[in-house]
Amino acid sequence: MDGTLMDDTLMKKAAEAISRSHHTVALTGAGISVESGIPPFRGKGGLWEIYDPMEYATIDAFLRNPEKVWRVLLMATINDLKKAEPHSGHIGLARLEAIGRLRTIITQNVDGLHQRAGSRDVIEFHGSFASYRCLRCDRKAGMEALELSTLPPPCECGGIYRPDCVFFGEMIPPHHLERSHTIAAQCDVMLVVGTSATVQPAADLPLVAKQAGAVIIEVNPEKPPLTRRVSDIFLKGKAGPVMDRLATEVEHRI
Ligand code: NAD
Repeated sequence: MDGTLMDDTLMKKAAEAISRSHHTVALTGAGISVESGIPPFRGKGGLWEIYDPMEYATIDAFLRNPEKVWRVLLMATINDLKKAEPHSGHIGLARLEAIGRLRTIITQNVDGLHQRAGSRDVIEFHGSFASYRCLRCDRKAGMEALELSTLPPPCECGGIYRPDCVFFGEMIPPHHLERSHTIAAQCDVMLVVGTSATVQPAADLPLVAKQAGAVIIEVNPEKPPLTRRVSDIFLKGKAGPVMDRLATEVEHRI
């Protein structure tokens, strides 16, 4: 079975569960944006095949050599984000929210594609590349206001900007962590789309939901370790075709 040949029985089971649910939430990861041209971290074509995360993605690495991290990892990410458009995977989730079958998306992504697809309640668990802040004076700036011809981009105060994302080694913003945990414990269905669920503490959220009795529906072309531990329904395939079909199946049931 692949992205074009989905298991019909499992698809219908997933659609039934979402249609009947009172509180569905989604947890998304880098995989949902692969079809928008943004590479994930792990696996085939992942950024860690090119970059060593310890050298580029930790807060210590950034503070040690911000010019290097900006020049290599951050500019590559920004260039990918500028070209990216939401696809039917992001739109499928927005369709579920529009018909009242999905309340909240907790995303580990920093690309803003859920909001651009029309989703309204999105928790950006790992922050965002849409905004930046000065390390010295805390002034905020949007991507378009950054002076990217000089790296790291300078602030008027003489400081430098960093993205409002969470580097490895940094804390998740407490309000995002708290709300995500509460939602995970309250939901009755959790859709887990395009994440290897290996980055803590986001990886705990499906476990929290499962322990509270939720049905876990997972969408991924590979079988990540999560599948064996907590998923009740595994929809094998790419986020685009699977979410498009799932949204249609749920729409037919309301
Ligand atoms: P990950 O790189 O660890 O795993 C990606 C997962 O997506 C894998 O399980 C893979 O099998 C799956 N996948 C690949 N192609 C897919 C597709 N077409 N449809 C559905 N699934 C697909 O990513 P992660 O688990 O999200 O966690 C790592 C971190 O990556 C997060 O902290 C996130 O902040 C960061 N990240 C974000 C972006 C982004 O914003 N788009 C991009 C790269 C990394």
